[in-house]
Amino acid sequence: MNKRKPEWTPDGGGEGFATSIVVSKEPPKAPHRKRKRRTWDVDALMEGVLKGDRTLLSRAITLIESNSEKHFKIAQELLRRLLPHSGKSLRIGITGVPGVGKSSFIESFGMYLIGQGKKVAVLAIDPSSTLSRGSILGDKTRMEELSKEPMSFIRPSPSSGILGGVARKTRESIVLCEAAGYDVILIETVGVGQSETTVRSMVDFFLLMQIAGAGDELQGIKKGIMELADLIVVNKADGDNILRAEAAAREYNNALHYLRNATKGWDTTAHTCSAKMRTGLDLIWERIGEFRKNTGESGFFEQRRKEQTADWFEELLGEAVLDKFFNNEVIKADLPQLRKQVAKGETPVAYAVSHLLSKLDDN
Ligand code: GDP
Repeated sequence: MNKRKPEWTPDGGGEGFATSIVVSKEPPKAPHRKRKRRTWDVDALMEGVLKGDRTLLSRAITLIESNSEKHFKIAQELLRRLLPHSGKSLRIGITGVPGVGKSSFIESFGMYLIGQGKKVAVLAIDPSSTLSRGSILGDKTRMEELSKEPMSFIRPSPSSGILGGVARKTRESIVLCEAAGYDVILIETVGVGQSETTVRSMVDFFLLMQIAGAGDELQGIKKGIMELADLIVVNKADGDNILRAEAAAREYNNALHYLRNATKGWDTTAHTCSAKMRTGLDLIWERIGEFRKNTGESGFFEQRRKEQTADWFEELLGEAVLDKFFNNEVIKADLPQLRKQVAKGETPVAYAVSHLLSKLDDN
């Protein structure tokens, strides 16, 4: 047996204390298992998505959410092939402060739409999961009834990276869901940071959810967000809250007269609903239908989509160029020194900029 002396025994401890330690043999190592690497078969994914297979749609979204360089290339190939099959859905953004009833509404409205024969996908952009570790949208069990429906597809917010990165993944998920045949795509967000503007920039129709507050309805709401909305819905119009909710909707309608329309040629209006009692949903869907018809006839629907894609291209291009610039070895070597010189007033700012850019020409 393999024995060694202990590092410490009490003074005068005698034989009663351990005077030697038995060293056991190293525990046997678990047999080394090769981690099975997932292979991504673009053809199979494409076929699966086009058939509306939800498992493969989920896998395809996981692929586009990956941050690995290798996955990026495969994902982009998949998107390139699926792009011609996309574009046919109605993309609806839904925002409102936590507690207003967004998930309850999506559950009820989603079920209502399925009742109308629609296939409904639910995506989310939750900036709280990038700002802090916690997530406002994702932590609870949500949309239990809708999630069991074969005609629905629910995907939580991509969580890693900055808002721009999360937004890219959601935009690409929209393409995949459309290729999979979803007629309505609901994109949920909370009013944190830039998330509302970001969602507005990727949807056709933007719905702002509110609840009747105590007294001054408009105090807590930023004018800017009302100007993004195509419809305001005052939720929880049920029980003894109906009158208050209706009063709130009237106040919003009055206020809307003084605000800019979010969409050219479309008057934003406010209505009440109850996600819990499933009332008011008809009117909301009717308004969305009118919106689709009006903007379709005026050409604004298509025009906005084109502008959104063009803006997205510019944004991604800008990000990519900046990224390339700041990761350039020569720039990385020169930049700290130049920053100091500029801060101290030793080098003119414009000179420093043109000096750095000229370094790129040399490379
Ligand atoms: P979210 O944080 O905006 O997604 O809000 P939730 O959907 O989680 O709802 C917050 C709380 O409001 C929950 O306790 C819901 O049961 C409740 N709620 C949601 N919609 C309604 C409604 O139409 N009427 C009533 N009375 N309560 C509602």
